[in-house]
Amino acid sequence: MPFKVKKKILKLKESSTLVINEKSKELISKGKKIYQFGFGQSPFPVPDTIVDSLKKNAYRKEYLPIQGLPELREEISKYLLKRTGNDYPKENILITPGSKEAMLLIHLAFNGEIIIPAPGWVSYEPQAEIGSNKVHWLKTLRSNNWFPTSQELEKKIKSVGKNKNLILILNSPNNPSGTTCNNLMELAKVAKKYKILILSDEIYTDLTFSNDYSSISKFYPELTFITSGLSKWCGAGGWRLGFLAVPKKLTEFLRSLKSLASESYSTVNTPTQYASIEAYANDHELYKLKVRAILKAVGNYVYENLKSNKILIAPPQGAFYLMPEFKNKKYKTSSQLCETILDETGVAMLPGSDFGFKPSKMLTRLSYTDFDGFEFFRNVTNCRQIDDEMIKKFAPNVVEGVSKLSNWAKNL
Ligand code: PMP
Ligand code: GLU
Repeated sequence: MPFKVKKKILKLKESSTLVINEKSKELISKGKKIYQFGFGQSPFPVPDTIVDSLKKNAYRKEYLPIQGLPELREEISKYLLKRTGNDYPKENILITPGSKEAMLLIHLAFNGEIIIPAPGWVSYEPQAEIGSNKVHWLKTLRSNNWFPTSQELEKKIKSVGKNKNLILILNSPNNPSGTTCNNLMELAKVAKKYKILILSDEIYTDLTFSNDYSSISKFYPELTFITSGLSKWCGAGGWRLGFLAVPKKLTEFLRSLKSLASESYSTVNTPTQYASIEAYANDHELYKLKVRAILKAVGNYVYENLKSNKILIAPPQGAFYLMPEFKNKKYKTSSQLCETILDETGVAMLPGSDFGFKPSKMLTRLSYTDFDGFEFFRNVTNCRQIDDEMIKKFAPNVVEGVSKLSNWAKNL
């Protein structure tokens, strides 16, 4: 009896971020020197107090409520109030196995269409397709920091049809560009005018280098969902803890999400939920300052040493990515470009075509996290003293990879 797969599922590939991670590891195990600039994972240790809390709670084995541990939801609610000025009460927070799952649940439940500014993270479009929601990419320019202008958003809404049910996905600081959105208020105004929903992916919020992070929910709390979690700011991607905050006006929608959660993962694992209370009850400001300072210094190093007449890049403003654009006529697609670079230099990156760009646009995503974050973190005592010498000492793969890449580009 053949196993028949649904057409829309057959079309899916394995997510390119996870594939490049596995591919890089495989090449390394075969003895090849690889600069792992493909996968986006925080290299830093999880704060000790959070790890201790996980250890203390490892004995807990009972299932928790579908929606998540109430004490954890309460702490997240307080964190969001501080961060955004908005009240997302604990009743409106859903704990999920990573924020990726929270977004998937939205797509499964939501009946409408999705606007995604390009660049947009690799999983947004496939998730929308899994949920049978049509995707509309919205082109952005480097001149507006790789975010749409309010006019561009309005034009897109009108062309899609202003009476449609629409969600705009917004991610600042952005994966893959590493830039932050300067015009949140203007975008919020347009969203408000057409009453479209916003899904604000704030997984990199605490890695905003300028530290003046702002959430679009400040300007449009009534219809903005927020997703975030532990994966990026505290280095706990593998713990798989995320959350969704649902605006009060849409509380009803949460019922469907909870049903989906209960029929799939049931509830997130218990010890991690208890440990995460510690992650949100304290602000971990010193830890965050240090993580941001290291990432900012390494990001700037890569930016300064890579930008040239052959490579265009916007300066790093948050997260741990940069989006170099290679000026050349030799390669037809960004995938071909990335494959050649990997072959000839050992530098692994992802093509811009995975992030909503036309394949012919020579953009790539570079993740500058290929260093021992434990060592680097331990050796930083003064955030203002992270100079090139320290970067060479504690992030040698980044330094070497950047030099290989920049030399390679000279021959373009
Ligand atoms: N959004 C973006 C932009 C990301 O880069 C990631 C990285 N995994 C996620 C969401 C999902 O993170 P997680 O599921 O680990 O919370
Ligand atoms: N967010 C990471 C990235 O963009 C990887 C994790 C994932 O895709 O789930 O590389």
